[in-house]
Amino acid sequence: MSERRFDVLIVGGGHGGAQAAIALRQKGFAGSIAILGDEADPPYERPPLSKEYLAGDKAFDRILIRPESFWMERSVELLLGQRVVRIDAAAHRVETDGGAAFGYGQMIWATGGSPRRLTCGGHDLPGIHGVRTRADVDAIMAELDAVTRVCIIGGGYIGLEAAAVLTKFGKQVTLLEAQDRVLARVAGAPLSAFYEAEHRAAGVDLRTGVTVECVERGDAGGLSVRTADGGAVACEMVIVGIGIVPAVEPLLAAGAAGGNGVEVDAWCRTTLPDIYAIGDCAAQANRFAEDAVLRVESVQNANDQATTVATLIATGDAAPHGALPWFWSNQYDLRLQTVGLSIGHDDAVIRGDMAARAFSIVYLKRGQVIALDCVNVTRDYVQGRKLVEQGASPPRDRLADATVPLKELL
Ligand SMILES: Cc1cc2nc3c(=O)[nH]c(=O)nc-3n(C[C@H](O)[C@H](O)[C@H](O)COP(=O)(O)OP(=O)(O)OC[C@H]3O[C@@H](n4cnc5c(N)ncnc54)[C@H](O)[C@@H]3O)c2cc1C
Repeated sequence: MSERRFDVLIVGGGHGGAQAAIALRQKGFAGSIAILGDEADPPYERPPLSKEYLAGDKAFDRILIRPESFWMERSVELLLGQRVVRIDAAAHRVETDGGAAFGYGQMIWATGGSPRRLTCGGHDLPGIHGVRTRADVDAIMAELDAVTRVCIIGGGYIGLEAAAVLTKFGKQVTLLEAQDRVLARVAGAPLSAFYEAEHRAAGVDLRTGVTVECVERGDAGGLSVRTADGGAVACEMVIVGIGIVPAVEPLLAAGAAGGNGVEVDAWCRTTLPDIYAIGDCAAQANRFAEDAVLRVESVQNANDQATTVATLIATGDAAPHGALPWFWSNQYDLRLQTVGLSIGHDDAVIRGDMAARAFSIVYLKRGQVIALDCVNVTRDYVQGRKLVEQGASPPRDRLADATVPLKELL
């Protein structure tokens, strides 16, 4: 078995992996670096997959994180189309599905997650898709011309974004959400109600509190999604957006602590020597959630954790990771910008006019601002960051008054 060794081996060529390599070189790291990833493409941006790329508004080369030449110029070797399946932490060595082996000085595990799949009957029928990779979206796009009706399972951001794009394409979209509201995991009830109304107004048949029982072959080569309430949705395509399973199996098998993700400390160190983990797959205590151990699934989190690790490796000294989480979502002409984590809020104040489609929701816990969801109000998002960072406790009536700039409430 041939064996090469890299000073830093980055496993996973997504947002976190790419940023780790970029930041290592920016910080002056001169050792050898490789990114080993199981996708065939060089690192690209994932958010456009359910937005501009699916809509056909951005070609693939416009969503590359860096032009392909960048990696060669920075002496970052791309080992693409191969998957790490085994880690020998003591020997500092990994093995891939193709039978290759690589040694490493330090390893950065940045593998994200795979889309959670349906487990019910018919889960593997043709025409059922996830949305995680370019290949997933290319497969959807290749079939779309022959599709009139799409059933989207899951009312999280990815399902809702896909619904917005496909509705614009003139498809008949039915969206099924098991909980009693969309975005239940990530946002407060007023935001869920707002987006449900927007999607319904755009023509989406959005149903909440509906559990999928199975998928069957329907008439004329189509599919039928059967629901627990006895209903059935006839369609030609099913898109499943029900979250991810963190890709940490080889790490856990090698002895790393974790479960739902791999546990890391404030510098993203796993419990295994010289192995860091970053991005969607890393579970870390989060100071914006009272130190609850969480996986944060966002580009910002992957990038900031990558920068922390790269700084530590390149300079031997880095501040602990503790960046303020932020996120965005585009649906129709609505730009949602989120800052902070609203989990556990006990109050939500609405600023502005929801009917005018420009408003913010300020989430409070024990009177302190912990997060904001801002729809088409970038000013609140920018100024609200400081309220979250400082844990400000402004009077509720002032927060609710959209004529009062948030920066005056610090
Ligand atoms: C459709 C979509 C829309 C999104 N929209 C937004 C948004 O608007 N805003 C936002 O902030 N975030 C958004 N996200 C989330 C964001 O893309 C992720 O949080 C981010 O990509 C996480 O980066 P990562 O490096 O942890 O993982 P990824 O970017 O997923 O990269 C992980 C890579 O590792 C590979 N890999 C996995 N296992 C192995 C292995 N064993 N060996 C080798 N390679 C492996 C994977 O195939 C993948 O290429 C979206 C995600 C999706 C899928």
